[in-house]
Amino acid sequence: MRSNPYGSQLPWAEPPWYQGRPSPYYKPTHIQLRDAVRKWCEDNVMDQSDQWEEDGKIPDEIYRKCGEDGLLMPIAAGKKIPKEWAHYPIIGGIKPEDWDGFHDFILWDELLRGGAISSIFIGLTVGAPPLRQFASKELQSEFMPAVLKGEKRICLAITEPSAGSDVRNISTTAEKTADGKHYIVNGEKKWITNGMYSDYFMTAVRTGGPGAEGISMLLIPRMEGIRTRPVSIGAGKLSATTFVTFEDVKVPARYLVGEEGKGFRYTLSNFNHERLWIVFQGLRGSRTCIEDAMAWAMKREAFGMTLIEQPVVRHKFGQMARQIDSLQSWTEQVIYELDQLSDAEGSRLLGGVTALLKVQGGIVGKFVADECVKLMGGLGLTTTGQGARIEATYRSIPSLIVPGGSEDVMIDLGVREALKLSQKAIGKAKI
Ligand SMILES: Cc1cc2nc3c(=O)[nH]c(=O)nc-3n(C[C@H](O)[C@H](O)[C@H](O)COP(=O)(O)OP(=O)(O)OC[C@H]3O[C@@H](n4cnc5c(N)ncnc54)[C@H](O)[C@@H]3O)c2cc1C
Repeated sequence: MRSNPYGSQLPWAEPPWYQGRPSPYYKPTHIQLRDAVRKWCEDNVMDQSDQWEEDGKIPDEIYRKCGEDGLLMPIAAGKKIPKEWAHYPIIGGIKPEDWDGFHDFILWDELLRGGAISSIFIGLTVGAPPLRQFASKELQSEFMPAVLKGEKRICLAITEPSAGSDVRNISTTAEKTADGKHYIVNGEKKWITNGMYSDYFMTAVRTGGPGAEGISMLLIPRMEGIRTRPVSIGAGKLSATTFVTFEDVKVPARYLVGEEGKGFRYTLSNFNHERLWIVFQGLRGSRTCIEDAMAWAMKREAFGMTLIEQPVVRHKFGQMARQIDSLQSWTEQVIYELDQLSDAEGSRLLGGVTALLKVQGGIVGKFVADECVKLMGGLGLTTTGQGARIEATYRSIPSLIVPGGSEDVMIDLGVREALKLSQKAIGKAKI
C-alpha cells in the first residue's frame, strides 16, 4: 500500500511508508490510527510535556482520559484485541477485529514521539498481559475493567535487589496460611516501573522450592504491609521507578494468577512483546534525533558553509540512516511473523530473535543519539531549545540496554535459542 506523504519530510525523520513509499505491511486502518494518535498527542501532550517533567508527574486525569479516548485497552492488548474487550473504545475508531501488531507498533511509535506521555503506560503494557492470559475469568472480571478504563493502575514486579537477570532466583516468599485462604508475602522488589502510583502489583513470588518451578504469580492490590519508595534514576523520572517492600502482606489465595509453580513460564511469555516495545523506543528515539540534527545541520554555518554542506557531516547522516532503516525493516519483519504465529509458537521460534532485535535497538539508539549530540555542538547538552529532544534521548539510552533483559544476557540468549532450534531441526545432541 502507499500513503500520502505525512509528517516531517526531513530524511529519515519518519518511517519510509510515511513518505508515500510502498509497503506490504500497512493498510488504511494503520493510516487512520497514525493520524489519530498524532493528533491526540498534539492536542493533549505536546504543550504540557515540559510542565509534567518539571512537576515530576503526569496528572491522574490525563491517565483517565487515556482510558476514555481508547488508548489503554489496545496498549494492554498488544497485537490482538481479545473478543471480551471489544466493547472498550479504541483510538481512531479502529475495529477490534482489524487490530494487529502493526497497529500496536504505530500506537507506540506515535506515543513515543509524543515524549513523556509514554512513560505512564509501561506498567500496563508489562503488568496486564499475565492477568489477561493466565488469570481465571473471576479474577479478570474483578480487576481488569478498572485497569482498562484508567481508574486503576498496574505494574509488573519481578526484579529484586539480589535477582535481576537471574529471575529463577527470586526470593520474595508467599506462604499459604493454615486455612489455605491467604498467602503471606514477604520480600523486596526493585526497579519497578510505575510502582509509585500503581494500585496492583503483578508479582513473582516463591510459593515452592528453589528454581523456576517454585515461582508463582500473584496479583497483589496495594494494601497494608506494602511500602513503595522512589528509585532515583537519571532519565525517565515520569516512569516512577520504585522500590517495593512487602512485609507480612496478607493476600487472598484466590489472587493467584493461573497455577502455582507456573510464574516463571508466565514471566517468559510476555518477553517478546516487552522487548519489541523497547525496540520501538530505540527506533522513534533515533528518528527524533536525526530529525532535529538534520534541521540544525541545514541551517548552522561553520567555516563558511552549513554543516550539511560538509562531506564529513553527510557521512555521519548516512551512517545513522542505514542503521535506522535496517532496524525498521527487521522490526517490521518480526512484527509480521509474530502476527502469523500463536503466542506459544512466537515464543518458541522468535524468543531469541526478539532478544537480538532488542539488542540492536539499543545499539542503534546509542549510536544515533551519540552522533546527534556531537552534531548539535553545545546545544546537544541543553535540556531546553533545539537540542532538547536529542539530549533527553541520549540520557535515556541505558533504559534501552538494561531493562527488559540486559544486552549481554540477550546476546547470549539469542545464540542459545538459535542453537536449540537448529539442533532440534537436525536432530543432534544438545551442546
Ligand atoms: C529503568 C528500569 C526499569 C525497570 N523496570 C522493571 C519493571 O517494571 N519490573 C521489573 O520486574 N523489573 C524492572 N527492571 C529490572 C530489569 O529488568 C533488570 O535491571 C535487568 O533485568 C537486569 O538485572 P539487574 O539489574 O539485577 O542486573 P544483573 O542481573 O545483576 O546483571 C548485571 C550485568 O551483569 C551481566 N550479566 C549478568 N548475567 C549475565 C549472563 N548470564 N550473561 C552475560 N552477562 C551477564 C550483564 O552485563 C548485566 O547487565 C527495570 C530496570 C530498570 C533499570
